[in-house]
Amino acid sequence: MFQSILCPVDTSEPGLEQKALSVAKLLAEANGASITLLAVVPDMPVMAAEYLPADFHKTQMSEFRRVLEDIATASGLPKERVRTKVRIGRPYHEILEEAQASHADLIVMASHRPRLATYLLGSNAAHVVRHATCSVMALRPEAA
Ligand code: ADP
Repeated sequence: MFQSILCPVDTSEPGLEQKALSVAKLLAEANGASITLLAVVPDMPVMAAEYLPADFHKTQMSEFRRVLEDIATASGLPKERVRTKVRIGRPYHEILEEAQASHADLIVMASHRPRLATYLLGSNAAHVVRHATCSVMALRPEAA
């Protein structure tokens, strides 16, 4: 049913990915699918960039890669079934791009409960659900 599962991870919220990852793992095992763990380093506005060290993105990318590799190891998935990817940009945009690039047929992501801020501003999960061409599972933290 699913061959390529994309699991975007927000490294600024450690643990948020756990339920999404266990669902992705169950589905991957049942379907013989592979999982891509994706972390996006948020792009900085031009005005902020001049106050950051020149290697800011590079440092962030290696830090995010290390976090993803730890998550991949802790998941217990065989190495050939899980890969890690780090991108720079707007999270929802890069999630949609990576879904295309990795030919994902399912995106599994944790999602907070809707709140006023996200109602007004939209959220990563909402953008992904709206624009992805593949299936998307948005998991609420409190739900079973
Ligand atoms: P919500 O959509 O629940 O309001 P977010 O917009 O932060 O909250 O989306 C939550 C999900 O979006 C995370 O579980 C993760 O899958 C994805 N996400 C958010 N930020 C990033 C990021 N920097 N890199 C990768 N995925 C992210």
